[in-house]
Amino acid sequence: MSYYRHTKIIATLGPATESKEMLAQLITAGVDILRLNMAHASHQWVDDAMWFIREASDEVGRHVGVMMDVKGPEIRTGRVEKDIIVNTGDHFEIHIEAAEPTGDVAAVSVNYPGLPADLNIGDTVLIDSGLIRMKVIDRDHQRVRLEVLTPGSIGSKRHINLPGVFVKLPCLTEKDEADLRAGVKAGIDFVALSFVRQGSDIKQLRSFLDELGSQAKIIAKIEDQAGVRNMQEIIAEADGIMVARGDLGIEIDYHRLPLVQTEMIAACRDAGKPVIVATHLLETMISSPMPTRAEISDVSNAIREQADAVMLSGETTIGKYPLESVQVMKNIIESIEPSVDGEINQNLQLHEPKPKMLRSAARLAQSLGDSAIIVFTRSGFLAYTLGALRPRGVPIFAFTDIDSLFRQLLLPWGVEPFHMEFSEDPEETIQNALSLLCERGWLKPGTTSVVITNVLARGVIIDSLQLRQVP
Ligand code: PGA
Repeated sequence: MSYYRHTKIIATLGPATESKEMLAQLITAGVDILRLNMAHASHQWVDDAMWFIREASDEVGRHVGVMMDVKGPEIRTGRVEKDIIVNTGDHFEIHIEAAEPTGDVAAVSVNYPGLPADLNIGDTVLIDSGLIRMKVIDRDHQRVRLEVLTPGSIGSKRHINLPGVFVKLPCLTEKDEADLRAGVKAGIDFVALSFVRQGSDIKQLRSFLDELGSQAKIIAKIEDQAGVRNMQEIIAEADGIMVARGDLGIEIDYHRLPLVQTEMIAACRDAGKPVIVATHLLETMISSPMPTRAEISDVSNAIREQADAVMLSGETTIGKYPLESVQVMKNIIESIEPSVDGEINQNLQLHEPKPKMLRSAARLAQSLGDSAIIVFTRSGFLAYTLGALRPRGVPIFAFTDIDSLFRQLLLPWGVEPFHMEFSEDPEETIQNALSLLCERGWLKPGTTSVVITNVLARGVIIDSLQLRQVP
């Protein structure tokens, strides 16, 4: 078996990667999950992308999960005829679409009518993903008067960030709901929700997905101060977390970003939920075949902190070197992982006897050396928990007979999923799993694996942890 990689790779799909040929290459190169970013996508594009992804997967014989990333409550400036240049000290106005500009200073409209009411004098407004900084000096219920602190040029539909302001926009917009309907129809495995501010945002999305009959796992993107503050309740409600560093680096003091990343990864690991580190990991590879030394260190840091997955955005959507970016990720992971502390996660609270058994299984497999854990799961819980225990050096082979769950098991750290029918007889299921692992080269004959399974004892089902030698 070639190197067993624990950290997963997510790539965002875009013009650079949406052909079937490129998808097949990305999947072969090791991408585990493909992300569809709905900020710029049509529903037809979703259908086409999904079809290409599944076709390419079948062709190369390796499967990937698909994550739809919905925009959430995003605030943007309106259209301008030509770019507006603003200089330090200038006054500027943002008005709601229903109101006319005052006319005495340069102005732009905003797509969120609640903006003036959410702001207070002295608050900071950032335009164009943090590039232009302004301070609120006055406001009424339709207009906000600002003083420019950092100069720049404002084009149409620029992103607005309001650091520290609790925005009262709904967590799911009409566009998000329409996107989700299209995504569920196309068969997405994960939904990533942008700008999650509190646990109830996730409950709302979950009930919407329930209405659609979707079992998609929910990834909460934490990207503002409210999200960071309410991290614990969000982690409790969501199936996973994304450290969305693009917006987070604007919404909080940039020099605190590494602290928040470390805190979020540890909190997720200790709650048994997967965590993704996203944005700017290999940013220069959008135009260069090699990453910077700083980027190599940044990816290494995410691996040392034991994030479940690292994510590519611009590198694979518009970049010139999408395939090379995946290869670079893989090379860094394979180089760094063996040096990471192999200690089993002690902080993960396990309450029931069977999950408690998983910690023993992880320890046992590690002490056997050159071993593996085999688990059978229909809810995914056992596999997600094993991943959260972080048994470095031990592959977690998770078998399920549920198609959608199979792809959802591609996210957690260290889990390699297999889709297989279960037999009535647990022993036959184990034998089938062992043969499949041998046939595909995942296990060598003679290897002792730790198997977590049910056994029938005088007609009663009991939980068991077994040592099995591959025949
Ligand atoms: P985006 O989210 O790619 O949708 O902007 C990620 C981030 O903000 O880091």
